[in-house]
Amino acid sequence: MFRLRVKIFYVYILISFMLSVYLFYLISKYSVEKFINYQRHVKSSKFQDRPRMPQIVGHYVGIGSIGNISKDFMNTNNFAPVPGVGENGDPVVVQAKDLLKMQQLFQINRYNLLASDRVALNRSLPDVRKPKCLAKDYPSKLPTTSIIIVFHNEAWSVLLRTVWSVIIRSPRHLLKEILLVDDASDRSFLKVELESYVQKLPVATSLLRLNKREGLVAARLMGARVATGDTLTFLDAHCECSPGWLEPLLARVQENPKKVVCPVIDIISDDNFSYIKSFEFHWGAFNWQMHFRWYTLSDEELAERRKDTTLPFHTPVMAGGLFTMDRKYFFEIGSYDEHLKIWGGDNLEMSFRIWQCGGEIEIAPCSHVGHLFRKSSPYTFPGGVSGILNENLARVALVWMDDWSKFFFKFNKGTEEFKSLNVSTRVALKKQMNCKSFDWYLRRVWPQNFFPAPNKFFGRVQPIDLSTFDYQEYITLMKKINLVVKHLNPELKWKFLIKYLSENVKKIGDAMKVAKHSSYCLQKPKSNSVINQPFGQSFLKKCSLLINIFDEEFVIDDHGRIMSDEGVCLDSFRKTSVDGEQLVEGPKKAKMVTCGSNKPGQRWVYETDTYHIRNINSDDCLERGMTLMKDDSESRFEVFLNPCDVRNELQKWMLFPVAWK
Ligand code: UDP
Ligand code: MN
Repeated sequence: MFRLRVKIFYVYILISFMLSVYLFYLISKYSVEKFINYQRHVKSSKFQDRPRMPQIVGHYVGIGSIGNISKDFMNTNNFAPVPGVGENGDPVVVQAKDLLKMQQLFQINRYNLLASDRVALNRSLPDVRKPKCLAKDYPSKLPTTSIIIVFHNEAWSVLLRTVWSVIIRSPRHLLKEILLVDDASDRSFLKVELESYVQKLPVATSLLRLNKREGLVAARLMGARVATGDTLTFLDAHCECSPGWLEPLLARVQENPKKVVCPVIDIISDDNFSYIKSFEFHWGAFNWQMHFRWYTLSDEELAERRKDTTLPFHTPVMAGGLFTMDRKYFFEIGSYDEHLKIWGGDNLEMSFRIWQCGGEIEIAPCSHVGHLFRKSSPYTFPGGVSGILNENLARVALVWMDDWSKFFFKFNKGTEEFKSLNVSTRVALKKQMNCKSFDWYLRRVWPQNFFPAPNKFFGRVQPIDLSTFDYQEYITLMKKINLVVKHLNPELKWKFLIKYLSENVKKIGDAMKVAKHSSYCLQKPKSNSVINQPFGQSFLKKCSLLINIFDEEFVIDDHGRIMSDEGVCLDSFRKTSVDGEQLVEGPKKAKMVTCGSNKPGQRWVYETDTYHIRNINSDDCLERGMTLMKDDSESRFEVFLNPCDVRNELQKWMLFPVAWK
């Protein structure tokens, strides 16, 4: 009997718990829906993004399936060049009758193998250099180089076109040797057939092989250890060197052996093998998920570059596959971290190490090499792609990022399980070489980057819903600070506000705990390619809090620049369209574009009494739109700029500070 009562009691507790969870769900659902319905009242405007830069992709997005392709099909080498096809870097046109075959072959390497197999190994390429580069004189005596090309199951035509492009477009006396390193490929044509082919090449070429699949770092190290040239030049196995590519790299290393020099990386189309020149003034960057990105140089940097467009410029990180460095220096500065497996992290590891330990990384705009960027990875990742990548990235963070690794782990949950890896040998090396800190790197090498600091706001930008009680704590705090900052100039005002908000992180966070699951957050746009900056309209979306966290975290400095990860800042712009003979001005929208310290449209003031975010340039206020954005499944709302109006509830914003340490 007693037992039965206990059971009934438990059931009772369980039912009331479930009921309260359901009730909570209904309440939160209702408030979200209310918000969405409210937003639907006003019609959406006809806004379209401006044309974007050519797409550059090349990031691993998973392994995928290669369908029913047989081993025989994968092991067949179909290379049969058709005279004239692909010459001058032109695209290959495939006829309708071959489309099915083309699609099947595409799966093998994730590029248009059928197209590649029709293009000569020594095809011509356009000379994409600036005229000033052509007029440049390089020293008659330059250091020699060993070309190291590592590969895993590369296609015959693609691999050997890389080799031939080196042979036919480099001064012969500068080529000490070519070293091909096979990371345990299993394609049959890469065995004996390749061995006998390389023996007949006009430049001394060796084929080295790893016994088992280890990844690109182990393969590059194998090449570097046997190399005898004054310098080492690494290339991916799917590149094409364009005219005059080598001299600018070698000349720079000769000037200073501590310089590691990268070419401008042009694009070989994975669809049709055309050679596409890319924008020269991008630098290599990474976001806080430690993914490699290309960012446009800042305006100040660009202005500096325009004085002499041929001069190499610094880059915070290198893409990883294509660079030249002094051979002795390569070993002196710690070659590679041998524990980096298969793929990933090597470029950041090397970049941090070089910068922090006294070297420099540059891009030489007169040197152009094409690289075949793929949309997905063709490889197997023994042990799983995310495990390998996360472990590699965690290693890099642990060795090179000091306390900043905590910031990385805090916001990248997938890497957390690796935060106790043993990295002692690399840390010892770092100590022994007397390397500077990551903090030094951020402040000196890349101060333009997005990172929190005690003198910057770090957190979310959220609309205030005055009808709920959740914002009371924040409003009370603002009332207090308003007395202090009301009459200060914008810069001083930000200084006080930033300090005050960071001192109250916990208070605000606790007060908002209930509200946060139904809150909306200002978001940066999505990039149209995986490797470029995310330009475009910023918008409001339900805060995700844990996933894609850096889409909704902003840093604000005391100039009032509202910056997000990947080097983009909140700016205002107006879309104009032509209606008949008339120019029609659309509404002003809030857009994220490359940050620049001299862009007045990127300076904002936060009004502590009205909760306005006001643009210093136009004097307009940030206003949340009320319509769902077009073609949208994610419930996103536009963000506008309109004349400030204290009675307009849609112009009230909260700066929600987030603890970053
Ligand atoms: N690679 C390798 N072993 C691997 C994965 C890649 O040797 O397990 C080689 C690959 O053939 C290429 C270079 O490493 O020459 C860089 O890899 P990939 O081009 O796939 O990287 P991405 O250019 O896409 O960053
Ligand atoms: Mn590559």
